[in-house]
Amino acid sequence: MNTLSDLLYNMFADRQPAEDEYLGNDGLIYCAKCHTPRQARVEMLGKIVTPPVMCVCKREAEVNAETDRKQREFQERVAQLKADGFQDKAFLDYTFANDKGYNPEMEKARLYVERWEEMRENATGLLLWGDVGTGKTFFAGCIANALIERGVPVLMTNFARILNTLTDLRSEERNRFIDEMNIYPLLILDDLGIERNSEFALEQVFNVIDSRYRSGKPLIVTTNLTLNELKNPADLAHARIYDRVLERCVPLRINNRNIRKDNAKVQMERAKALFGAT
Ligand SMILES: [Zn+2]
Repeated sequence: MNTLSDLLYNMFADRQPAEDEYLGNDGLIYCAKCHTPRQARVEMLGKIVTPPVMCVCKREAEVNAETDRKQREFQERVAQLKADGFQDKAFLDYTFANDKGYNPEMEKARLYVERWEEMRENATGLLLWGDVGTGKTFFAGCIANALIERGVPVLMTNFARILNTLTDLRSEERNRFIDEMNIYPLLILDDLGIERNSEFALEQVFNVIDSRYRSGKPLIVTTNLTLNELKNPADLAHARIYDRVLERCVPLRINNRNIRKDNAKVQMERAKALFGAT
């Protein structure tokens, strides 16, 4: 009679050890590498059958392969987020790893990343202000890279680029463009205040800032303007932009030491040492 147990028995009964296997004292087939069984012995409907099982080393290899696959997938996602989020390739190099330690404020960039969940929840942004060449964009870029490396989508762009795009779009497409920027959990806008002071430009900058404000998501802005200039704008059009920014973005003065000048100075010192000059 051909019962299910006969069928199973016959299926497994003829299995012979392969090259990397041996027959154990208990009659089961063992892995020659990890010395654990590749067969189990179970009773089924009154018959003993020996279905295949994974030996320990095979199981470990599968777990490792799965971990590798997940890691690879994550790295691919990070690469994709960087390609999507950085509109300037130079931002890719703005990382904590590349920080030369000139700027004592950088600790605050690390703090922002560490406390990201809280920042996101409370829509807490930063307003990075200070002179040209003090590393505001670098500061913001480090936050962007660190968060992206954790899998958080960040868009980092600048007002000039946004205005160029908005100028080229039909008015009904502008809102969609602005809404798309607000999909990102963190938006970083470089160089507030250098835009043309036309009515159109100011209106669009306000729309960008205001819709971000209403999205309830954080915004990081850099500017060459002083905090005093932001707090005392020349007219209403500027006031309503800056008020929104100041309401959600913690103003941080980025050290007004000029990093570009410092770099030049270091290079000059090195060159002098090279030629033995004093
Ligand atoms: Zn094994």
